[in-house]
Amino acid sequence: MGESLIELPYEYDALKPVISQQVLEWHHDTHHQGYVKGVDSAEEKLEKQRKDGDYSSTGSILKGFTHNFAGTVLHEIFWQNMSPNGGGRPEGELLNKIEEDFGSYENWKEEFKAAAGAAGGWALLVYIPRNDELHNVVVDKHDQNAVWGAHPVLALDVWEHSYYHDYGPNRGEFIDGFFDLVDWSDVQERFEGIYSKF
Ligand code: MN
Repeated sequence: MGESLIELPYEYDALKPVISQQVLEWHHDTHHQGYVKGVDSAEEKLEKQRKDGDYSSTGSILKGFTHNFAGTVLHEIFWQNMSPNGGGRPEGELLNKIEEDFGSYENWKEEFKAAAGAAGGWALLVYIPRNDELHNVVVDKHDQNAVWGAHPVLALDVWEHSYYHDYGPNRGEFIDGFFDLVDWSDVQERFEGIYSKF
């Protein structure tokens, strides 16, 4: 077992000017890497506990696992959701479902942008098979306000490490810029892969 850091599907300078090379290097090589290591560290501590029969630190270890695992998963989606050739609008089944569940693409986008403005971590578009519904979710840290049984199909990281070096306090400019990077074909594939199973 053991987690590994996924490679970015583009060069470090490929998302300029929305995300600078410096921010992408720090974000992937330091922050994302840190969550990957955090998962492995938690797993090692759990193994040791089981060997030693000492479960006195279980709570803090499992909290560390959840934080780092959720961070790892969401960063993988975030990187793959973007492309230097991104932008535009969703198409096909995803667009149909957005229109069904939010009224229009514009409604969805306004709500998602508001979620990203309010989040202490992430804005997510998720598909919830239980309800056969797309939903926006506002996440603090990597896991607070998580929705059980929901599959993220679009993730936007609004931790300060994601934008502050490039935008200062103007988070809204970063959120607007993100829409020029969204690789809707990746989002559509994620959605259709889950949607087709339910
Ligand atoms: Mn991040």
